[in-house]
Amino acid sequence: MEKITILGAYGAKGFKQESSSFLLTDTHAIDAGNLLRSLGEGAARIETIWLTHSHLDHIVEIAYILDSYFTLRSKPLKLMGLAHTLEAIQTHFLNDVIWPDFSKIPLCNADSMSVVYESIELNRVYTIDEITSIEAMETVHTVPSCGYIVRKNSSAVLITADSYKNPRLRETINKYPEISALVLECTFPSEMDALALESLHLTPALAEEEIKGVQREVKLYFNHLKPGFTETIKKEIKASELLKNGHILDDGDTIYF
Ligand SMILES: [Zn+2]
Ligand SMILES: [Zn+2]
Repeated sequence: MEKITILGAYGAKGFKQESSSFLLTDTHAIDAGNLLRSLGEGAARIETIWLTHSHLDHIVEIAYILDSYFTLRSKPLKLMGLAHTLEAIQTHFLNDVIWPDFSKIPLCNADSMSVVYESIELNRVYTIDEITSIEAMETVHTVPSCGYIVRKNSSAVLITADSYKNPRLRETINKYPEISALVLECTFPSEMDALALESLHLTPALAEEEIKGVQREVKLYFNHLKPGFTETIKKEIKASELLKNGHILDDGDTIYF
């Protein structure tokens, strides 16, 4: 069975709650909500971060893994993402105002700049190593955003990242039989469906609707709960059909697929 590790499981940072980040291999991660607390100095080994979108809970620790472990880095940090996501980081975040523009700062241990940006195409398979590949799927959010299909050997997990209801989700799962697990966001309690629509996130009730069209059983993992509503959302998920084949993720958990 294949696995990946959840470094941050929540939709923001709270008390002992870290925001979105997944460790795919020793050197590759999806999103940078939490890298330092979970990896310590090991964060300096991260070479590539596959970004889902530009929101702060998904990018914030890009700043700190560059700064805090600068002298330990021997390779540039490659930021992969949709063109909009990379432009947003360059314009609004690593812009020499909020934080240094590391794409202009050479590494001290190598003949390259500290950060390299590389835009990705949706629905294209990128090879990570001999057994691992990744493919972006467009999602429905307030900024251009994507989820990722992570394939290891012959099985795969679909990580939706931040998204409202998305017809591509069921199409993708129904199209690729190797997807055996789904990580679905569940950001707000069901009674906050107006806010969910406005911010393009899911609630437990919307998540139930979302998985109705999936034609076969996949393991369900829920993440991106907002720290202020964690207990309410957990109660709602537990009271629904969702937990029959599902699990609510916490920081440090492992996803099997
Ligand atoms: Zn988020
Ligand atoms: Zn977001």
